Amino acid sequence: MNKINLEEIKEKLIAERELLIEKLKGNDLSVDDSETPDPVDLAVRNYSKNVMLAVSENESRQLLLINEALERITDDEYGVCQNCEQDINPKRLNAVPWARYCLSCQELLEQGLLNED
Ligand SMILES: [Zn+2]
Repeated sequence: MNKINLEEIKEKLIAERELLIEKLKGNDLSVDDSETPDPVDLAVRNYSKNVMLAVSENESRQLLLINEALERITDDEYGVCQNCEQDINPKRLNAVPWARYCLSCQELLEQGLLNED
């Protein structure tokens, strides 16, 4: 068995998407800015705000990748590297169902040798 099970992949993607949406919602708890905070308090708040922003940036990005992967399933293009158009290793897809690239292209990307659109 060296094939991907699209139904299973789709389920994984949808489950992961739900999880991310829940997380992003959790980050949305707005900080109460109504009272005048002292400078230390303010610094702490800004710090945790920035951390939260960084977290949701990662998560929003992953959400985007998941949505793209689901679209590719619908368009019958799933499992093809978005750069070299080779089939992505099924093992890789089972581990990272939202992968855009095959392993070699992913490495290029991490080395800064591949420009993402
Ligand atoms: Zn590739």
